[in-house]
Amino acid sequence: MVTKKKFFWITIVWRREYLFAIIFLFVCGFFCGLTRRDEPVDAPSLLPSAVAGKTIIIDAGHGGFDPGAVGRSGLEEKTVTLDIAKRLKRYFSRVGVYVIMTREKDIDYSAMPEAGALTKKRRDLLYRVRMANESNADLLISIHVNSFPQSIWSGAQCFYDSELPESKRLAEAIQNSLVTRLGPNRRKAQSADYLILKATKIPSVTVEVGFISNPREEELLADPEYREKLAESIFYGTAVFLTQEARSAAPVATTAGGGAGGTLTAKVYPELTFPTLEPGTACLYFATPNNEDLSFKPEIRPLPELEEKSKLQKAQVILEELAKGPGEGSVLLPCLPGGNWVHGLRLEGTRAVVDVSSELGTFINGGGASEMMAIYSLVNTLAVNLNLNEVTILVDGVKNATLGGHFLLGEPIKPRPELGPTGAQTAGDTGNYLRR
Ligand SMILES: [Zn+2]
Repeated sequence: MVTKKKFFWITIVWRREYLFAIIFLFVCGFFCGLTRRDEPVDAPSLLPSAVAGKTIIIDAGHGGFDPGAVGRSGLEEKTVTLDIAKRLKRYFSRVGVYVIMTREKDIDYSAMPEAGALTKKRRDLLYRVRMANESNADLLISIHVNSFPQSIWSGAQCFYDSELPESKRLAEAIQNSLVTRLGPNRRKAQSADYLILKATKIPSVTVEVGFISNPREEELLADPEYREKLAESIFYGTAVFLTQEARSAAPVATTAGGGAGGTLTAKVYPELTFPTLEPGTACLYFATPNNEDLSFKPEIRPLPELEEKSKLQKAQVILEELAKGPGEGSVLLPCLPGGNWVHGLRLEGTRAVVDVSSELGTFINGGGASEMMAIYSLVNTLAVNLNLNEVTILVDGVKNATLGGHFLLGEPIKPRPELGPTGAQTAGDTGNYLRR
């Protein structure tokens, strides 16, 4: 009896080990196949055991009623993000990663009796956040397609919330992979207050896979082969990140559901250093045309009439000037449309509350970059000229609205001076811009 049992037991073990060995060899083979192709010499070798067994939530941005950014050819962000998300899922599934998708069809999560696109987008965003926080996943990868009112910008770019150092490392690893695998791109991973990143408790990244507003990149995004390369790059970057985390002393945090654990550090923004403005001048924040990061260069505009105005009147004039766009001959780019999009404006101590028109959403065209730049063009400009600490933005009088489906408004927003001038002056820069 004993011998039989032993024999039976050994048989089972052998079978299991055999099975595990096959799976292990398959995963290793996949990694070898992946790393063999045209990798840079210093490409890190991947550790299959650091990747297999993880749970990753993939969020295909937008969907259903919300197309996201739309290109000139009619290509919609929601279609591109879903296709890349599905391809990415296949990569992860092959190496033993459990994948949760926020959507696998052309749907949204705004089902509700209330009307109004602004509130629908907010509902959809918050539902995705809830899915991520209840998923017990190790990582969140949210896929989006970028857009800006001008076609000049291109290049994939990763965004992270600065509160979690793991998120920054994840974004940098994916950015590095995108740049080395997809060709020249001077963009770097950047911090941004995307709601999905701010509100989730796990390391997370938003990958803006390219600018649909750039005709060449729109063509690429429509090409299934290019989407496959994008998925492979995101997968490889994530695998590098997981390998690096496993090899370092600090393993990746698994704080799903907001539980304890992980290294949370306080969000540190640089000290607010408002430039000293000459009387009768205003400082207006416009985007720099460089294709490297999302940043502003303020234009100093002489406005002698400001001297006799009250603080509120001054704010009104400055917003009107911001809507006029950069001065003649400037290389800078407007982040807000012309016309009168301010419905209401009031000052409460060191805070301004601005009620803007939902028509700004049309100008933003569903792009994460255009949304972020519009928000901070407004916030930075008001803060710097009126010495404010924060600005609350309402949309058509609605609190907690979103203009482009990435950032949730309604809470007071602090200016981000670090989005101001950095590095070398841009070509064509006449020195009319404020230097820090
Ligand atoms: Zn988007």
